[in-house]
Amino acid sequence: LNSSNGDNSSLFKMPTIKYNKLFINGDFVDSVSGSTFETIDPRTGDVIARISEGAKEDIEIAVKAAREAFDSGPWPRMSGVERAKIMMKFAELIDENIEELATLDAIDAGKVYFINKAFEIPSAANTLRYYAGAADKIHGEVLKSSGQFHAYTLMEPIGVVGHIIPWNAPTMVFFTKVSPSLAAGCTMVLKPAEQTPLSALFYAHLAKLAGIPNGVLNVVPGFGPTAGAAISSHMDIDVVSFTGSVEVGREIMQAAAKSNLKHVSLELGGKSPLIIFDDADIDKAVELALLGILANKGEICVACSRVFVQEGIYDQVEKKLVEKAKAWVIGDPFDPKTQQGPQADRNQFEKIISYIEHGKREGATLLTGGRRVGSQGYYIEPTIFSNVKEDMLIAQDEIFGPVMALMKFKTIEEAIKSANNTRYGLAAGIVTKNLDIANTVSRSIRAGIIWINSYLAVGSDIPFGGYKMSGFGRDQGLEALHKYLQVKSIVTPIYNSPW
Ligand code: ADP
Repeated sequence: LNSSNGDNSSLFKMPTIKYNKLFINGDFVDSVSGSTFETIDPRTGDVIARISEGAKEDIEIAVKAAREAFDSGPWPRMSGVERAKIMMKFAELIDENIEELATLDAIDAGKVYFINKAFEIPSAANTLRYYAGAADKIHGEVLKSSGQFHAYTLMEPIGVVGHIIPWNAPTMVFFTKVSPSLAAGCTMVLKPAEQTPLSALFYAHLAKLAGIPNGVLNVVPGFGPTAGAAISSHMDIDVVSFTGSVEVGREIMQAAAKSNLKHVSLELGGKSPLIIFDDADIDKAVELALLGILANKGEICVACSRVFVQEGIYDQVEKKLVEKAKAWVIGDPFDPKTQQGPQADRNQFEKIISYIEHGKREGATLLTGGRRVGSQGYYIEPTIFSNVKEDMLIAQDEIFGPVMALMKFKTIEEAIKSANNTRYGLAAGIVTKNLDIANTVSRSIRAGIIWINSYLAVGSDIPFGGYKMSGFGRDQGLEALHKYLQVKSIVTPIYNSPW
């Protein structure tokens, strides 16, 4: 295996951690309790820094600041153009600090430095720019009422937003949540995942530098059952936008229902299928399948953890997948050769290993991988199982790691049925040159995004979110802006109208 971890200490760049406190009302502050927690480097399991631990009372202070900034601060009252200018500046500051930001995500989340620097962080900055472009185009409609009335709608910012985000894509998810809510004129409290608070705090600093007024963007690191639950049950938060697991999504929705009926949007897990038809370009299909399951070490909600291959090319695809998976380069995220870094934390690492063990016990055939790489840090080999039955746990549960379940099918109907045999519905991929197959299958799969002859192609303007238990509400696109707006209808009588 082309492992390079463990012997690359010269590549380790340990930056000074400048921001390790809660960011509330424009200042970095200690938590009320004074508690801190460790954030861990998944390359080694070592502590990177201690971070102030936000809890209920800190969320309380942050929400007060956000509420005040919403009720009487400049942000919601500015013209869209003014907000856009500040958001553009924020995006520029990301570009200027990109190396430090990519370093923080590499040591905190195990993200490959060069990939993050080349793609994910620039596209996060572009997400800000996309929504900056929308900030001055938020408007309602003039309605010709059926009675003798004149009516129009206003699109008003919804108020104070709570964002609860996960650890797999600390930068991307931060900006898919924050950008549309800023554009809408909302104020917010964001809780990064406890595993990956570093870049979020750096972004808070950049927001301030860019000129985002105090109280508009508050970042409170902390744990789910304390800080997270304080957001979802808060009486003065108007909407909670969450990305993470189904279990936590359920708790958030319950807490929202039991408190003030705040709006909820949930982007949850997936068990996304990639379906490769007999007429596919085999090399292209193999490349997409590996990218789909191994990018970001499988810690992607849209990972193609189920790959269905039509029987005519199954053997060839299987052989190539295994060859390429064996050649996949696992190693330190700072090594330019590295394709796959460590899993984000110990829990995740252990969970993946236990699914792999379960897959073996269930009777699936382990074609390649399945083991830890090296003796320190949380590295796992690209893993492919064949002879997977659809009711096996490894074909049903989201593993969130570099583990592919490979299955064979005969007919289009069978492929559609199998692809839909999941409680999730986040994404799907289709590889075929046949337009009829592509059209039929893309309309038959119950998932929020379908990639034809591509995989993982996302963009600021492409709505992203789930069907079924993958959640509801959309991130990205103008769809997402509407999560942070609400419609007010204004009606007035018209007397003696000539029309
Ligand atoms: P994972 O289990 O994969 O770590 P989670 O869905 O638990 O993913 O975590 C995503 C985010 O949800 C994190 O920021 C986490 O702190 C937060 N979280 C966890 N539990 C709760 C909860 N009960 N209420 C609100 N947020 C929570």
